[in-house]
Amino acid sequence: MDSKHRAWAEINLGAFRRNLRRTRKQAGKAAVWPVLKANAYGHGAIAIARACAEEGVERLGVGDSREAIQLRYSGVELPLLVLGTVINAEVPDLLEHNVEVGVHSESRVHALGDVAREHGKTLGVHLKVDTGMGRLGVRPEAVLRVAGAIAAEPALQLRGLMTHYASSQGTFDEFTHGQHALFLAAAAEVSHELGARPTLHSANSAALYTNLHPIGDAVRPGISLFGIQPENLGAKVGLEPVLSLRTQIVFIKDIPAATPVGYEGCWTSHLSKTRIATLPIGYNDGIPYRVGLSGNGQVLVRGQRCPLIGTVSMDYCTIDITHVTDASVGDVVTLIGKDGLESISTCDVARVAGTIPYEITCRLGSRVKRCYHEDLGFKEASGNMSKP
Ligand SMILES: *Cc1c(COP(=O)(O)O)cnc(C)c1O
Repeated sequence: MDSKHRAWAEINLGAFRRNLRRTRKQAGKAAVWPVLKANAYGHGAIAIARACAEEGVERLGVGDSREAIQLRYSGVELPLLVLGTVINAEVPDLLEHNVEVGVHSESRVHALGDVAREHGKTLGVHLKVDTGMGRLGVRPEAVLRVAGAIAAEPALQLRGLMTHYASSQGTFDEFTHGQHALFLAAAAEVSHELGARPTLHSANSAALYTNLHPIGDAVRPGISLFGIQPENLGAKVGLEPVLSLRTQIVFIKDIPAATPVGYEGCWTSHLSKTRIATLPIGYNDGIPYRVGLSGNGQVLVRGQRCPLIGTVSMDYCTIDITHVTDASVGDVVTLIGKDGLESISTCDVARVAGTIPYEITCRLGSRVKRCYHEDLGFKEASGNMSKP
């Protein structure tokens, strides 16, 4: 890849497809509904959704109606589910573009039903049970009442019963077992009441890869499809990283000892001849402001690890390349991914930044060019939006 961009993310759709297949194997008989919210965790929802469609997935999860509409305009015809909830202003869009939504209260059922009837349309809904996440969802004791309200509303169709787990440890955490038991009990009640079992879906990546049982009718993995394995899940499960983040050196200079670098002068050189390089990527592109402050933030240049130094600026950051004597302007710099024998994972960056890997990829800015490839056969612009 020649570096014609200031900063770019190489997205390996081949690795994504293999992760999807691996995940389907893990899910057994359950359907895999990839979760593509937050622009597919920063990877670019359009290209990822198209790959999902090519792989024959049945349904995709999104974060809001805008994400759903963007996929519709890009020609994605798969069933789409807004996983959380919507504000009232989004409802006509859901109806127009045939997008399903999670419901979590009786008043919501009535509000959605009213708008759907007004438009002469049917809205597919998934009843969300709060089994311990404490956020969206009906409390288990209210599930029957809300399920009844959905059944009584002809403009709504119940397409699923769902819950969401709070623990990143999956079934390694007792709390998940408690949530799962509440979910199964709610499912039994609803099935009995309606005389039919709704489609059950609860597992995120962590629950799926820690063998939640019974797994239900569908699973909703996100992070694992991008090859980012929640670290504390132990055993390697053969998922491949999908994203590499790269930039290039735009400026090199030598500075004497005791020279401060960056805002607040948080870092000062100690060698009499320190060589620093400036990279055209900053916190606007998603590099955490403080990632260079602990001394553990690193990038790869010519296969060698170089420390990020000082605070990250909006558009730039700086690295110490004193030991990489042949480094020059234009050299490719790897912030996430492999270079030679060395590699830096999204989890590595998250650990140094004191956050979770999800936040690292989700926050990659719009200036970071997404370059899609199938195992390094590059193709341009497959992630661009086209009106039908
Ligand atoms: C984000 C999300 C998921 C996917 O979670 P991962 O940990 O990325 O697998 C599943 N379900 C819901 C409701 C979500 O919001």
